[in-house]
Amino acid sequence: MIEPASFSDQLLAFYDEHARALPFRIRPHPYYTWISEIMLQQTRMETVLPYFERFIQAIPDVPALASVSEEQLLKLWEGLGYYSRARNLQQAARRMMSDHGGELPDTVEELLKLPGIGPYTAGAIASIAFHRVVPAVDGNVIRVFSRLMAYGGPVMSAPGKRYITEAVQSVMSKERPGDFNQAVMELGATICLPNGAPLCQACPVREHCLAFSEGNPLAYPVLPAKKERRIEQHTVFLILQGNRFAIERRPRRGLLAGLHQFPMRPGDLTRAEVSDLLADLGFTEARIEDGPGARHIFSHVEWQMSSYIIRVSTDRIAESGFEWEDQTALSDLTLPTAFAVFRREMEKLMGEA
Ligand code: SF4
Repeated sequence: MIEPASFSDQLLAFYDEHARALPFRIRPHPYYTWISEIMLQQTRMETVLPYFERFIQAIPDVPALASVSEEQLLKLWEGLGYYSRARNLQQAARRMMSDHGGELPDTVEELLKLPGIGPYTAGAIASIAFHRVVPAVDGNVIRVFSRLMAYGGPVMSAPGKRYITEAVQSVMSKERPGDFNQAVMELGATICLPNGAPLCQACPVREHCLAFSEGNPLAYPVLPAKKERRIEQHTVFLILQGNRFAIERRPRRGLLAGLHQFPMRPGDLTRAEVSDLLADLGFTEARIEDGPGARHIFSHVEWQMSSYIIRVSTDRIAESGFEWEDQTALSDLTLPTAFAVFRREMEKLMGEA
C-alpha cells in the first residue's frame, strides 16, 4: 500500500520542480482558481490560457461577474463551448453577492450549493484557494490512483469513485493540500498519461505503484465502454437580403441553449425542400445555391451540416421570424464554433454584396 509520508514528500518535490507556471498559480486568488477550474472542465489547458487572461481582464471579480451583461459574458466565452458553464458562473456570482458578501464560500459544503460546482470543483477550490484538506478527484486523479493501487473495479461507478476518493484522502498532505491535489493532476497530465503508455521511468512515486510493480499499468483504470456518438444531419440557411443576413436564436434549453445561429433545420434537405420551406415563410422568389458543408463534434453528438446560400428580395422579412443583421454583427454576435465555416462564408458573401 501507499506509504503516506514518503508518497506525499516525493509527489510535492516533483510538483515544486515541475509545476507549470500558470497565471492562476502565479497570482493565487480564490476567484482565479474558480474561473480557471470551470474553464478547464472539458477544455484543454493550452486552449484555456488566453481565454482566462481575457476573462479576468474584462471581469476581474465576483461583483463584476454578477453584473456583466449576458451578451458580453457569452462573447468572452465564445469558442470555449459548453456555454452553460458561463451562465452558471454568473448565477453563482449573484448568489455570492446575496449570500456570501461578494466572496467565494470557503467550504466544500457551501461551494457545492452553487450552480456549476460539483464535487471535483468544490474540492479543487477548497483545497487550492482555502487550504482545506479535501480531495479533488478528476479523471487524472482517478487514473493515477487506480494504477497506484491496481484497482480493478469499475472506477466510474459510485463505489469506485468513493474508493479512489478515500484513498486520496488517506494519503494527502495536511500541510499543502492544494499543492498535493494539483501535483496528482500534474502527474496525471504529464507522466501517468491517459493515452498510450505512462512514463513510469520518470515517475516520482513509482516505488508505491502496484500496477508498475505488476508490470501492467495499461490495465488500469477499468472504464465503461464508450457510447457511440449520435449523428445528426442539419441544413443551414445562409440567407441574405441586400446587405443583411438572417439569424435566429436556439431554444432556451438543450445544446447551445439560447445562442445565435444561422437558421438551421433538421435533416439533409434537398433544394426543392428548402424552396418549399422558404415559400412557407413568404420568400417565393429566392435564389438558392449550394453552400459549404461542415461537421462538428460535441461530447455525445456529431452534427453533419450542409448549407444553402439563399438570396431573397421580398420585403416579407419581418414576418419570417428571423432576426436580420448587417455585416458589423458578424464579429459582435456570439456564434458557436460549430458555425465557424458558415460565419466565414457569410463574411465572404457580405464582402461581395
Ligand atoms: S509508476 Fe507509472 S503507472 Fe504508476 S503512477 Fe507512476 S506513471 Fe502511473
